[in-house]
Amino acid sequence: MKRFSNKSVIVTGAGRGIGLEIARTFAQNGANILMTGVNEENIKKSAETISSNYSVKAIGVKQDVSSEADCEKVVSIAEENFSHIDILVNNAGITRDNLVLRMKEKDFEDVIAVNLKGPFLMSKHVFRIMSKQRSGRIINISSVVGQSGQAGQANYASSKAGLIGLTKSLAKEFAKRNVNVNSVSPGFIETDMTASLDEKTKASILSQIPLKRMGKPYDVAAAVLFLAGEESSYITGQIIAVNGGIYI
Ligand code: NAP
Repeated sequence: MKRFSNKSVIVTGAGRGIGLEIARTFAQNGANILMTGVNEENIKKSAETISSNYSVKAIGVKQDVSSEADCEKVVSIAEENFSHIDILVNNAGITRDNLVLRMKEKDFEDVIAVNLKGPFLMSKHVFRIMSKQRSGRIINISSVVGQSGQAGQANYASSKAGLIGLTKSLAKEFAKRNVNVNSVSPGFIETDMTASLDEKTKASILSQIPLKRMGKPYDVAAAVLFLAGEESSYITGQIIAVNGGIYI
């Protein structure tokens, strides 16, 4: 029996990067997974690979987390296939960086819609099921910049700070149904999102990280699995930083 055998998990934004690694790690530990992403071909291919590598059920679904209809659809597909939903990981996220004076209204709105409204919608629709089960875990992937602020990322940092407020509010509201809600707050992790940073910026970031390296997607996945497992059943409303010490 593996650690997450008989558990079913939804991971949003699981086509690549941190979300893909979270889905892979759950599957490696025996869980069935519903994975979502914008690029339909890619998310279906990623799910097929996970399913054949780990002999679990893995379903890839195209989704825009900022659409309530899409969120309802994803939760229904998970319910039909798994009959119960044990864990939701709100991982999908985007950046549209710019200095405030150059930031377009749409760039602000799009980032809030995906990074903050998306987790609200997914949590709302998944709670309908978790509330009946009287058990569940929701884990929101926030960011160090939601805690520290960041020049050039007013939209992104606001969305992630909002996600921390959402995490704490949901934790208080859902606790009576035995649903724990926590957040993992990564620092700088090696994915497509950080690959576009220029060498000078990367060197400057590295010089500020006490552990002297960028994080790997697995560093985040390991914290997510901890918050999804039995050993964390008395933890709710918390933010676990996985940031190499860049913000303490
Ligand atoms: P990434 O490599 O850019 O991947 C983002 C994923 O989100 C992709 O699978 C993408 O789908 C999906 N996605 C984007 N918009 C979506 C939408 N509207 N609906 C559903 N899915 C959507 O990002 P990452 O670096 O792995 O980041 C994952 C999470 O960690 C994000 O919330 C990010 O803010 C957070 N985070 C990352 C870092 C870091 O250093 N990388 C640091 C702190 C926090 P497609 O593959 O189909 O495009």
